[in-house]
Amino acid sequence: MSLHDKFGRQITDLRISVTDRCNFRCVYCRSANPEHNPNGHELLSWDELERLVRILVGLGIRKVRVTGGEPLARPGLEQFIARLARLGIRDLSMTTNGLALAGCCDRLVRAGLHRINISLDSLDPVKFERITRTRSLPQVLEGIHAAQASPLRPVKVNAVLVRGLNDDEVESFAEFARAQDLVMRFIEFMPLDADRHWTRDLVVPAAEVKRRIEARWPLVPLPHEPSETARKFRFADGRGEIGLIAPVSQPFCGFCSRIRITADGKLRTCLFSREEYDLRPLLRTGASDEQIAAAICNRVLEKEAGHRINEPDFVPPARTMVFIGG
Ligand code: SAM
Ligand code: SF4
Repeated sequence: MSLHDKFGRQITDLRISVTDRCNFRCVYCRSANPEHNPNGHELLSWDELERLVRILVGLGIRKVRVTGGEPLARPGLEQFIARLARLGIRDLSMTTNGLALAGCCDRLVRAGLHRINISLDSLDPVKFERITRTRSLPQVLEGIHAAQASPLRPVKVNAVLVRGLNDDEVESFAEFARAQDLVMRFIEFMPLDADRHWTRDLVVPAAEVKRRIEARWPLVPLPHEPSETARKFRFADGRGEIGLIAPVSQPFCGFCSRIRITADGKLRTCLFSREEYDLRPLLRTGASDEQIAAAICNRVLEKEAGHRINEPDFVPPARTMVFIGG
């Protein structure tokens, strides 16, 4: 058995969400209105999550990214990373808002984490607060520095650009990448926010970001795997890299190699899936590993061709980003 879909795409990457809770309320993800942030779902146990990853590694998954919600907000995360590391995953990474990272970075390295992505949507404390609704910029910067001082490589910093909110910071982020010698990635805002405020006008296209950075510092394209989400560039004259992730303006679905498992045990074959497959009944009614593997393979076969954001009849999924795992 292996993970292929009916379009011939091989699935090698897993994003696994370990929680749908979060200590930030980023405007493009969660809501300021508690009624729009429903209580978290019942989470899978660490044993259940590890079992699913082990089954998927047996089916050819080689890259695993732990995400959420905020993964560092779930007690036991470090031990879980250690359990995943023992499965012999070739590329084991995590995405975090960085709030708690400085205090646990060394332990994550010892647990066997390979690399890390940290979200940072503004370098300005006032705008950072407006976006995340927290005053945590100093802690996040400390987390980035801790990652830089650790063996985790590459350190990638993710900014979601929203027109009128932080699009004036493109050049500052590029300077940050150069000064800190890290990978700065610019992500297009996707229609997955809890307040459903997304409109096409709020998306800052990757082409604009590239044009603006190139006007100041010449860029050299770097090779990338077709299934990679980011188009990568280094600065011709120095340190640092940028990555452009353009799911809206330049969809990369044709080469997608990803599936997702939500913190409550739903298999999602696309970020924008309108339907999901509940693995919990299998996990909790004594199904064998082989039965679970067969169910996953059957479902993956039906993976969507693409996300349809640019189609006139596009309907966003019922779940928003924090409940899916980005
Ligand atoms: N809490 C962690 C964090 O923020 O890095 C991990 C989970 S978060 C859902 C994963 C990634 O999704 C982050 O880089 C975040 O910026 C991104 N994200 C969240 N909502 C988004 C949206 N509507 N469009 C594009 N990216 C989004
Ligand atoms: Fe939390 Fe990450 Fe969503 Fe921000 S993007 S609200 S940090 S899950």
